[in-house]
Amino acid sequence: MRVAQCGVLKPHLGVGFTAGDEECFELFKDIIYPIVKGWHKFDPYTSFHKSDLNPLNVTFTREQQQKFDQYVQSTRVRAARNISGFALPCGATPTERAGVEKVLKEAFSMFEGELKGKYYPLKGMSAEDEDMLQSNGFLFQKPGPAQLLAVAGAARHWPDNRGIFHNDNKTALAWCNEEDHCRIISMQKGGDVWSVFARFCQISDTISKAAKQNGAKLMEDPKLGFLGTCPSNLGTGLRASVMIKIPELNKDPHALEEVCDAFDLQPRGSSGEHSAAVGAKWDISNKQRIGQSEAQLVQKMIDGITKIIKIEEMLAANPGMTPIQAMKKCM
Ligand code: ADP
Ligand code: MG
Repeated sequence: MRVAQCGVLKPHLGVGFTAGDEECFELFKDIIYPIVKGWHKFDPYTSFHKSDLNPLNVTFTREQQQKFDQYVQSTRVRAARNISGFALPCGATPTERAGVEKVLKEAFSMFEGELKGKYYPLKGMSAEDEDMLQSNGFLFQKPGPAQLLAVAGAARHWPDNRGIFHNDNKTALAWCNEEDHCRIISMQKGGDVWSVFARFCQISDTISKAAKQNGAKLMEDPKLGFLGTCPSNLGTGLRASVMIKIPELNKDPHALEEVCDAFDLQPRGSSGEHSAAVGAKWDISNKQRIGQSEAQLVQKMIDGITKIIKIEEMLAANPGMTPIQAMKKCM
């Protein structure tokens, strides 16, 4: 059963299940629903997912903005979007992959104003350009043979029909045919989460409208929301992250993990999932993707990071205090 291939070959890599196409969500419901319940604390048997892509429903106070400006180096909001009628990357044929790229290129050509940009295919890209885009966190890495995408079958025929769209100042980006058909990304330097989310909502709207105008439909389900390859990415498919420097919390990564967990946040290293944190720099984001709306998840990230900063400041001011003690004072 190919949906479980990644879990069988690499049981330590998180979820252990990947969908090969839209039909999997019906066919393997009795595997997916319990995974969703365990991971996101959301029960699709009894609940429906709701979307809210209105940035006005997110509160980011002036005090929060000031603290974020002090600690956060960059902010990024991304989500998965897949095109109905084509198999997902783990199950896609070369023809389907090319079909997805064609639909997305047409959609990208309809981006206007600040979002206007160009699509750059990975095949034929110079090694320097690829390096530059990767080291700045704009582009995905080539999946290694032991990594999730490779063991799940999503790295076949690399780099064919993969690519990246971005606007001139690289604040609006989209990946083509990596883990999902499309990953839409809004990012910028500094900690202005509200503006990054507002731009994300604009990108999301534009891609939905552009796809529709071209006769394509995004994969969406009334219970599960936006569908994605990995059950950890259903619903909003949204990961809102800040790259934050926290030298005190960095001294004990296990405690940091525990503190993040208490606020439903997930820490990652400074160059992506399963990477190391270099120079005390961590990528911290919302953990859940479904059951709460986009606006709610961004709010949760803002409020959680506000607490993380408070804990960091308490630790700096009180040598001898442990992260867990500081966390308890902030709950
Ligand atoms: P995702 O699955 O959300 O795309 P990954 O962990 O695979 O995230 O990371 C993708 C890339 O995005 C990495 O290079 C990572 O360092 C970069 N990145 C993630 N969050 C931020 C951020 N807030 N600012 C800058 N770069 C980021
Ligand atoms: Mg990833």
